[in-house]
Amino acid sequence: MRCPFCSHEESKVTDSRVVTENNSVRRRRECLKCLRRFTTFETVDLTLQVQKRDGRYEDFSQDKLIRGLDSACRHTRISHDNVRALAYKIVSDLMERQIREIKTSELGEIVMKHLQTMDTIAYIRFACVYKRFQGVDELMDAIEHIKEEQLPSEG
Ligand SMILES: [Zn+2]
Repeated sequence: MRCPFCSHEESKVTDSRVVTENNSVRRRRECLKCLRRFTTFETVDLTLQVQKRDGRYEDFSQDKLIRGLDSACRHTRISHDNVRALAYKIVSDLMERQIREIKTSELGEIVMKHLQTMDTIAYIRFACVYKRFQGVDELMDAIEHIKEEQLPSEG
């Protein structure tokens, strides 16, 4: 990314924010030569296909992921900004691993893994929608499972 001030080719990223409306990332960069800062907008390659339960594929939608996370995180300590950051992290991780295709179930597991460490209520809400618990017993099992994992490990 060329510096707009001195045309030097190398710069370092000081901050990245996802802009979901048009799938571009706003980056603050610092020129390694003149040390001046500038902002760039880079389009994220979101050619990710999600395979649904019925086997059909659909384009991955970051907005949809954010909406799902938002409803799971409502009235928890996870803010909308946290949700956006999480969605961006999940997408970036997939992009870094060069994943172009993912099953709904795999995506759900990734989301749940993150939520589990962030907020128990959000985790349970998301799990309820995602796992479609058949009755109270399955839900209780899941909660018991969380309790076990949260116990401090000894030795
Ligand atoms: Zn420069």
